[in-house]
Amino acid sequence: MKKHNFFAGPSILPQFTIDETIKGIQNFEGTGLSVLEISHRSKQFVAVVAEAQSLFKELLNIPDNYSVLFLGGGASTQFLMVAYNLLNNKAAYLNTGVWASKAIKEAKFFGEVVEVASSKEATFNYIPKGFSVPEDADYFHVTTNNTIYGTEIFEDFDCKVPLVADMSSNIFSRPIDVSKYALIYGGAQKNLAPAGVTFVIIRNDILGKVDRAIPTILNYQTHIDGDSMFNTPPVLPIYSALQTLRWLKAQGGLKVMEQKNIEKANLLYAEIDRNKCFQATIKDPADRSRMNICFVMNKGYEELEKEFLALADANGMMGLKGHRSVGGFRASTYNALPKESVVALVALMQEFEAKH
Ligand SMILES: *Cc1c(COP(=O)(O)O)cnc(C)c1O
Repeated sequence: MKKHNFFAGPSILPQFTIDETIKGIQNFEGTGLSVLEISHRSKQFVAVVAEAQSLFKELLNIPDNYSVLFLGGGASTQFLMVAYNLLNNKAAYLNTGVWASKAIKEAKFFGEVVEVASSKEATFNYIPKGFSVPEDADYFHVTTNNTIYGTEIFEDFDCKVPLVADMSSNIFSRPIDVSKYALIYGGAQKNLAPAGVTFVIIRNDILGKVDRAIPTILNYQTHIDGDSMFNTPPVLPIYSALQTLRWLKAQGGLKVMEQKNIEKANLLYAEIDRNKCFQATIKDPADRSRMNICFVMNKGYEELEKEFLALADANGMMGLKGHRSVGGFRASTYNALPKESVVALVALMQEFEAKH
Protein backbone atom coordinates (compact mmCIF):
# COMPACT_ATOMS: atom_id res chain seq x y z
CA MET A 1 0.00 0.00 0.00
CA LYS A 2 1.19 3.52 -0.79
CA LYS A 3 2.25 5.28 2.40
CA HIS A 4 1.50 8.94 3.01
CA ASN A 5 3.97 10.52 5.43
CA PHE A 6 2.43 13.32 7.53
CA PHE A 7 4.94 13.15 10.41
CA ALA A 8 5.97 16.50 11.94
CA GLY A 9 9.66 15.73 12.40
CA PRO A 10 11.72 13.86 11.55
CA SER A 11 9.60 13.88 8.47
CA ILE A 12 9.25 13.19 4.78
CA LEU A 13 12.28 13.81 2.57
CA PRO A 14 12.44 13.83 -1.24
CA GLN A 15 12.93 10.33 -2.69
CA PHE A 16 15.93 11.87 -4.49
CA THR A 17 17.55 12.65 -1.11
CA ILE A 18 17.07 9.10 0.10
CA ASP A 19 18.32 7.52 -3.14
CA GLU A 20 21.41 9.74 -3.36
CA THR A 21 22.19 9.18 0.34
CA ILE A 22 22.07 5.43 -0.23
CA LYS A 23 24.47 5.81 -3.18
CA GLY A 24 26.84 7.89 -1.05
CA ILE A 25 26.73 5.31 1.71
CA GLN A 26 27.71 2.64 -0.81
CA ASN A 27 30.28 4.57 -2.79
CA PHE A 28 30.95 8.20 -2.02
CA GLU A 29 31.87 10.30 -5.06
CA GLY A 30 33.66 7.40 -6.71
CA THR A 31 36.13 7.03 -3.83
CA GLY A 32 35.22 3.37 -3.34
CA LEU A 33 34.53 4.25 0.30
CA SER A 34 31.29 5.00 2.11
CA VAL A 35 30.46 8.57 3.14
CA LEU A 36 30.12 6.98 6.60
CA GLU A 37 33.83 6.20 6.76
CA ILE A 38 35.67 9.10 5.18
CA SER A 39 37.40 12.02 6.89
CA HIS A 40 35.35 15.17 7.24
CA ARG A 41 38.57 16.93 6.13
CA SER A 42 38.93 14.89 2.93
CA LYS A 43 38.76 17.08 -0.16
CA GLN A 44 35.59 15.30 -1.31
CA PHE A 45 33.73 16.08 1.91
CA VAL A 46 35.05 19.64 2.16
CA ALA A 47 33.52 20.06 -1.31
CA VAL A 48 30.16 18.75 0.01
CA VAL A 49 30.10 21.41 2.75
CA ALA A 50 31.12 24.11 0.30
CA GLU A 51 28.38 23.16 -2.19
CA ALA A 52 25.76 22.98 0.57
CA GLN A 53 26.75 26.45 1.80
CA SER A 54 26.68 27.82 -1.71
CA LEU A 55 23.22 26.33 -2.41
CA PHE A 56 21.93 27.82 0.85
CA LYS A 57 23.16 31.20 -0.35
CA GLU A 58 21.74 30.77 -3.83
CA LEU A 59 18.32 29.39 -2.87
CA LEU A 60 17.72 31.84 -0.01
CA ASN A 61 19.47 34.76 -1.71
CA ILE A 62 21.74 35.28 1.31
CA PRO A 63 23.85 38.46 1.17
CA ASP A 64 27.65 38.19 1.17
CA ASN A 65 28.17 39.43 4.73
CA TYR A 66 26.53 36.30 6.18
CA SER A 67 27.99 32.89 7.04
CA VAL A 68 26.24 29.53 6.77
CA LEU A 69 27.16 27.00 9.47
CA PHE A 70 26.33 23.31 9.95
CA LEU A 71 26.50 22.34 13.62
CA GLY A 72 25.39 19.61 16.00
CA GLY A 73 23.10 19.95 19.00
CA GLY A 74 19.76 20.66 17.34
CA ALA A 75 17.71 23.84 17.44
CA SER A 76 17.48 23.35 21.21
CA THR A 77 21.21 24.10 21.57
CA GLN A 78 20.67 27.27 19.54
CA PHE A 79 18.21 28.45 22.21
CA LEU A 80 21.20 28.92 24.53
CA MET A 81 23.88 29.69 21.93
CA VAL A 82 21.92 32.66 20.61
CA ALA A 83 21.68 34.15 24.09
CA TYR A 84 25.26 33.24 25.04
CA ASN A 85 26.61 35.08 21.99
CA LEU A 86 24.18 37.98 21.65
CA LEU A 87 22.45 38.77 24.94
CA ASN A 88 24.40 41.36 26.89
CA ASN A 89 21.65 43.04 28.95
CA LYS A 90 18.20 42.48 27.58
CA ALA A 91 16.52 40.51 24.82
CA ALA A 92 12.96 40.56 23.45
CA TYR A 93 11.03 37.38 22.61
CA LEU A 94 7.67 36.70 20.98
CA ASN A 95 6.07 33.75 22.73
CA THR A 96 4.16 31.74 20.15
CA GLY A 97 4.49 28.21 21.49
CA VAL A 98 6.44 25.51 23.27
CA TRP A 99 9.62 26.05 21.22
CA ALA A 100 9.53 29.81 21.77
CA SER A 101 8.96 29.20 25.51
CA LYS A 102 11.98 26.91 25.62
CA ALA A 103 14.10 29.55 23.87
CA ILE A 104 12.91 32.11 26.46
CA LYS A 105 13.81 29.79 29.32
CA GLU A 106 17.40 29.42 28.09
CA ALA A 107 17.83 33.14 27.39
CA LYS A 108 16.96 33.89 31.03
CA PHE A 109 20.26 32.28 32.05
CA PHE A 110 22.06 35.19 30.36
CA GLY A 111 20.11 38.36 31.08
CA GLU A 112 16.75 40.10 31.17
CA VAL A 113 14.12 38.71 28.85
CA VAL A 114 11.13 40.80 27.78
CA GLU A 115 8.23 38.76 26.43
CA VAL A 116 6.75 41.32 24.03
CA ALA A 117 3.55 39.29 23.55
CA SER A 118 2.23 35.79 24.07
CA SER A 119 -0.71 33.74 22.84
CA LYS A 120 -0.30 31.20 25.62
CA GLU A 121 -3.71 32.01 27.15
CA ALA A 122 -5.35 30.63 23.97
CA THR A 123 -3.17 27.50 23.56
CA PHE A 124 -1.03 29.51 21.13
CA ASN A 125 -3.77 29.41 18.48
CA TYR A 126 -2.90 32.78 16.95
CA ILE A 127 0.10 35.02 16.27
CA PRO A 128 0.03 38.10 18.53
CA LYS A 129 -0.19 41.41 16.63
CA GLY A 130 0.51 45.04 17.50
CA PHE A 131 3.29 44.40 20.02
CA SER A 132 6.26 46.72 20.36
CA VAL A 133 9.89 45.70 20.70
CA PRO A 134 12.03 47.69 23.17
CA GLU A 135 14.65 49.64 21.22
CA ASP A 136 17.33 48.90 23.80
CA ALA A 137 16.99 45.11 23.38
CA ASP A 138 20.10 43.31 22.12
CA TYR A 139 17.89 41.35 19.72
CA PHE A 140 14.31 40.25 19.04
CA HIS A 141 13.61 36.51 18.74
CA VAL A 142 10.72 34.96 16.81
CA THR A 143 9.69 31.40 15.90
CA THR A 144 8.45 31.71 12.33
CA ASN A 145 6.56 28.41 12.23
CA ASN A 146 5.03 26.87 15.31
CA THR A 147 5.25 23.20 14.50
CA ILE A 148 3.07 22.02 17.39
CA TYR A 149 0.20 24.54 17.08
CA GLY A 150 0.17 25.14 13.34
CA THR A 151 0.66 28.91 13.24
CA GLU A 152 3.11 30.70 10.97
CA ILE A 153 4.54 34.21 10.67
CA PHE A 154 4.65 35.18 7.00
CA GLU A 155 6.16 38.63 7.46
CA ASP A 156 9.90 39.33 7.61
CA PHE A 157 9.63 41.97 10.34
CA ASP A 158 11.19 45.39 9.99
CA CYS A 159 12.86 45.71 13.32
CA LYS A 160 15.16 48.36 14.88
CA VAL A 161 17.10 45.69 16.79
CA PRO A 162 18.76 42.57 15.33
CA LEU A 163 16.11 40.01 14.39
CA VAL A 164 16.75 36.35 15.28
CA ALA A 165 14.51 33.55 14.01
CA ASP A 166 13.98 29.86 14.69
CA MET A 167 12.97 28.59 11.23
CA SER A 168 13.28 24.88 11.99
CA SER A 169 10.01 23.91 10.37
CA ASN A 170 9.51 26.34 7.50
CA ILE A 171 12.97 27.00 6.11
CA PHE A 172 13.00 26.58 2.31
CA SER A 173 9.20 26.49 2.14
CA ARG A 174 9.12 29.96 0.51
CA PRO A 175 11.45 32.86 -0.27
CA ILE A 176 12.42 35.02 2.71
CA ASP A 177 14.27 38.33 2.93
CA VAL A 178 17.37 37.18 4.79
CA SER A 179 18.71 40.75 4.95
CA LYS A 180 15.99 41.52 7.55
CA TYR A 181 17.50 38.95 9.93
CA ALA A 182 20.71 38.96 11.95
CA LEU A 183 20.56 35.23 12.60
CA ILE A 184 18.38 32.34 11.41
CA TYR A 185 18.70 28.83 12.78
CA GLY A 186 16.93 25.50 12.76
CA GLY A 187 17.14 21.77 13.14
CA ALA A 188 17.29 20.20 9.68
CA GLN A 189 14.93 17.31 10.39
CA LYS A 190 11.69 19.04 9.37
CA ASN A 191 12.27 20.16 5.80
CA LEU A 192 15.85 19.44 4.82
CA ALA A 193 17.66 16.36 6.09
CA PRO A 194 17.62 13.51 8.57
CA ALA A 195 18.05 14.52 12.22
CA GLY A 196 21.51 15.46 13.41
CA VAL A 197 22.48 18.70 11.71
CA THR A 198 21.54 22.25 12.65
CA PHE A 199 21.89 25.13 10.22
CA VAL A 200 22.79 28.68 11.27
CA ILE A 201 22.74 31.69 8.94
CA ILE A 202 24.51 34.53 10.68
CA ARG A 203 25.39 38.12 9.81
CA ASN A 204 29.07 38.32 10.64
CA ASP A 205 29.01 41.77 12.27
CA ILE A 206 26.63 40.89 15.13
CA LEU A 207 29.27 38.97 17.05
CA GLY A 208 31.80 40.21 19.60
CA LYS A 209 29.41 42.55 21.39
CA VAL A 210 28.82 40.76 24.69
CA ASP A 211 30.99 41.28 27.77
CA ARG A 212 31.16 37.66 28.86
CA ALA A 213 33.70 35.05 27.79
CA ILE A 214 32.14 32.32 25.64
CA PRO A 215 33.35 28.69 25.73
CA THR A 216 35.03 27.83 22.44
CA ILE A 217 32.54 25.38 20.97
CA LEU A 218 29.54 27.57 21.88
CA ASN A 219 31.06 30.63 20.24
CA TYR A 220 29.71 31.23 16.70
CA GLN A 221 33.01 32.87 15.78
CA THR A 222 34.77 29.52 16.27
CA HIS A 223 32.55 27.90 13.65
CA ILE A 224 32.80 30.83 11.23
CA ASP A 225 36.60 30.75 11.49
CA GLY A 226 36.68 26.95 11.22
CA ASP A 227 34.13 26.85 8.37
CA SER A 228 31.95 24.34 10.29
CA MET A 229 35.00 22.08 10.76
CA PHE A 230 36.09 23.11 14.26
CA ASN A 231 35.11 19.64 15.38
CA THR A 232 33.66 16.72 13.41
CA PRO A 233 30.40 17.93 11.89
CA PRO A 234 27.42 15.58 11.33
CA VAL A 235 28.80 14.21 8.07
CA LEU A 236 25.91 12.03 6.89
CA PRO A 237 23.06 14.51 7.60
CA ILE A 238 25.06 17.23 5.82
CA TYR A 239 25.47 14.92 2.85
CA SER A 240 21.71 14.31 2.79
CA ALA A 241 21.02 18.03 3.19
CA LEU A 242 23.11 18.68 0.09
CA GLN A 243 20.90 16.25 -1.88
CA THR A 244 17.75 18.07 -0.74
CA LEU A 245 19.29 21.41 -1.70
CA ARG A 246 20.10 20.04 -5.17
CA TRP A 247 16.52 18.77 -5.41
CA LEU A 248 15.12 22.17 -4.37
CA LYS A 249 17.15 23.84 -7.10
CA ALA A 250 16.04 21.30 -9.69
CA GLN A 251 12.41 21.90 -8.68
CA GLY A 252 12.86 25.54 -9.67
CA GLY A 253 13.71 27.07 -6.29
CA LEU A 254 11.67 28.55 -3.49
CA LYS A 255 9.06 30.48 -5.49
CA VAL A 256 7.99 27.22 -7.09
CA MET A 257 8.09 25.48 -3.69
CA GLU A 258 5.92 28.21 -2.22
CA GLN A 259 3.29 27.82 -4.96
CA LYS A 260 3.11 24.07 -4.36
CA ASN A 261 2.91 24.55 -0.60
CA ILE A 262 0.13 27.12 -0.94
CA GLU A 263 -1.80 24.77 -3.20
CA LYS A 264 -1.50 21.83 -0.77
CA ALA A 265 -2.38 23.92 2.29
CA ASN A 266 -5.37 25.57 0.61
CA LEU A 267 -6.71 22.20 -0.46
CA LEU A 268 -6.59 20.76 3.05
CA TYR A 269 -7.80 23.85 4.94
CA ALA A 270 -10.72 24.18 2.51
CA GLU A 271 -11.78 20.60 3.26
CA ILE A 272 -11.38 21.03 7.03
CA ASP A 273 -13.52 24.19 6.89
CA ARG A 274 -16.15 22.55 4.70
CA ASN A 275 -16.39 19.09 6.31
CA LYS A 276 -19.02 18.83 9.08
CA CYS A 277 -16.90 16.37 11.07
CA PHE A 278 -13.80 18.55 11.47
CA GLN A 279 -12.70 22.05 12.43
CA ALA A 280 -9.37 23.87 12.19
CA THR A 281 -7.73 24.88 15.47
CA ILE A 282 -6.30 28.06 13.89
CA LYS A 283 -9.24 30.28 12.96
CA ASP A 284 -7.51 33.26 11.33
CA PRO A 285 -6.44 32.25 7.80
CA ALA A 286 -3.58 34.79 8.02
CA ASP A 287 -1.98 32.80 10.85
CA ARG A 288 -2.44 29.32 9.39
CA SER A 289 0.76 27.38 8.84
CA ARG A 290 1.42 25.91 5.41
CA MET A 291 3.67 23.29 6.97
CA ASN A 292 1.69 21.91 9.94
CA ILE A 293 -2.07 21.85 9.51
CA CYS A 294 -3.87 21.20 12.79
CA PHE A 295 -7.50 20.19 13.15
CA VAL A 296 -9.83 18.50 15.62
CA MET A 297 -13.21 16.82 15.50
CA ASN A 298 -16.09 19.26 15.21
CA LYS A 299 -18.59 19.72 18.05
CA GLY A 300 -20.80 16.68 18.31
CA TYR A 301 -18.26 14.41 16.62
CA GLU A 302 -15.59 14.40 19.34
CA GLU A 303 -15.94 10.71 20.12
CA LEU A 304 -15.01 9.79 16.53
CA GLU A 305 -11.39 10.92 16.84
CA LYS A 306 -9.99 7.43 17.43
CA GLU A 307 -12.05 6.02 14.60
CA PHE A 308 -10.70 8.56 12.10
CA LEU A 309 -7.12 7.95 13.21
CA ALA A 310 -7.58 4.20 12.81
CA LEU A 311 -9.11 4.70 9.36
CA ALA A 312 -6.19 6.93 8.33
CA ASP A 313 -3.78 4.33 9.61
CA ALA A 314 -5.54 1.58 7.67
CA ASN A 315 -5.15 3.72 4.54
CA GLY A 316 -1.42 4.16 4.94
CA MET A 317 -1.59 7.70 6.35
CA MET A 318 1.15 7.96 8.95
CA GLY A 319 1.87 10.58 11.59
CA LEU A 320 -1.53 12.32 11.68
CA LYS A 321 -1.99 12.27 15.45
CA GLY A 322 -1.79 15.79 16.86
CA HIS A 323 0.76 16.82 19.47
CA ARG A 324 -0.32 15.78 22.95
CA SER A 325 -0.71 19.44 24.03
CA VAL A 326 -3.27 20.16 21.29
CA GLY A 327 -4.88 16.77 20.60
CA GLY A 328 -6.76 15.99 17.40
CA PHE A 329 -4.79 15.78 14.19
CA ARG A 330 -1.79 17.41 12.59
CA ALA A 331 -0.98 16.92 8.92
CA SER A 332 2.53 18.12 8.19
CA THR A 333 2.77 19.17 4.56
CA TYR A 334 6.47 19.83 4.11
CA ASN A 335 8.16 20.48 0.74
CA ALA A 336 8.65 16.80 -0.04
CA LEU A 337 5.01 15.80 0.58
CA PRO A 338 3.38 15.27 -2.81
CA LYS A 339 0.02 16.86 -3.52
CA GLU A 340 -1.42 13.37 -4.07
CA SER A 341 -1.01 12.68 -0.33
CA VAL A 342 -3.15 15.71 0.49
CA VAL A 343 -5.68 14.68 -2.14
CA ALA A 344 -5.84 11.20 -0.55
CA LEU A 345 -6.40 12.67 2.93
CA VAL A 346 -9.15 14.98 1.64
CA ALA A 347 -10.86 12.01 -0.04
CA LEU A 348 -10.69 10.03 3.21
CA MET A 349 -12.22 12.93 5.15
CA GLN A 350 -15.07 13.05 2.65
CA GLU A 351 -15.61 9.33 2.90
CA PHE A 352 -15.67 9.65 6.70
CA GLU A 353 -18.21 12.49 6.54
CA ALA A 354 -20.47 10.47 4.23
CA LYS A 355 -20.41 7.54 6.64
CA HIS A 356 -21.45 9.70 9.61
C1 LIG B 1 11.50 20.64 16.17
C2 LIG B 1 11.70 22.08 16.55
C3 LIG B 1 12.68 22.47 17.49
C4 LIG B 1 13.55 21.49 18.21
O1 LIG B 1 14.54 21.04 17.39
P1 LIG B 1 15.66 20.01 17.93
O2 LIG B 1 16.52 19.91 16.72
O3 LIG B 1 14.95 18.75 18.29
O4 LIG B 1 16.35 20.64 19.09
C5 LIG B 1 12.81 23.82 17.75
N1 LIG B 1 12.03 24.74 17.16
C6 LIG B 1 11.08 24.40 16.26
C7 LIG B 1 10.24 25.46 15.62
C8 LIG B 1 10.89 23.05 15.94
O5 LIG B 1 9.94 22.70 15.05
